[in-house]
Amino acid sequence: MKFKVDKDVCIGCGACASICDEVFEIKDDGYAEAIDKEITDDEVKENAISAMEGCPTGAIREVKDEDKVKDKKEDKVKDKKEDKVKDKKEEKIKDKNEEK
Ligand code: SF4
Repeated sequence: MKFKVDKDVCIGCGACASICDEVFEIKDDGYAEAIDKEITDDEVKENAISAMEGCPTGAIREVKDEDKVKDKKEDKVKDKKEDKVKDKKEEKIKDKNEEK
């Protein structure tokens, strides 16, 4: 069992971390993040589920196996987009340097 926090929905209230700090943590950006690790301990699972159910914005969801495949695809698309932006920035810098 794994969890994921949607940072676009999280308001950083800290409720999840106070209910289950083994799984949820408030990061420097002020939003919660779930550990990227399979949770096997039953008590921790129960606490994490309580935290998910208690989240006031519904930002926490359980990651299912099919989600993991989807998440990997989304990560790849995101990486490609970031690479394109990086390439364009590098091209601009190169062009500017050549102009000089
Ligand atoms: S309980 Fe929900 S809204 Fe509050 S910090 Fe956790 S994920 Fe964010």
